[in-house]
Amino acid sequence: MAAYPLDDRGVVVTCNGCGQRNRLLYERLGDAVQCGQCKRQLPGITAPIEIDSTAAFDQLIAKSAVPVAVDYWAPWCGPCRMVAPELEKVAARADGRFVIAKVNTDALPDLGERFNIRSIPTFAVFVGGREASRAAGARPAAEIEAFIGRVSGGAAASRTR
Ligand SMILES: [Zn+2]
Repeated sequence: MAAYPLDDRGVVVTCNGCGQRNRLLYERLGDAVQCGQCKRQLPGITAPIEIDSTAAFDQLIAKSAVPVAVDYWAPWCGPCRMVAPELEKVAARADGRFVIAKVNTDALPDLGERFNIRSIPTFAVFVGGREASRAAGARPAAEIEAFIGRVSGGAAASRTR
């Protein structure tokens, strides 16, 4: 799985052309961005983003130009493991319309508590910094995509690129 390190300003991706690490600003997620070094177009975010800190999560949610679909999960949860490959399929097909973020509620219990996550997996879609909807339970990729589309449809579709 591709790893996307986050910092307080954006997501770090590696250029396919020259290997340079570039930061995609949260405010510009979903845009086509060129490598700062070789000017080749950078790869989009095609896998779930693993959230490793509450601070990065807060920045991503607050600033993301595209809807953020958050999967709350934990390593010991069987249904979460079943849904993981489904999320990878959804992320691979997202094409810049939204990003998927994974929150391990064992590693980041403060987020589970703040958002009152009672069961996992729980899936929530944030649009414009606010939680627009959530659903509990595992589901296949097509249903996840339909859920994200219903919740974020207007925001994602009307976005100018
Ligand atoms: Zn490059």
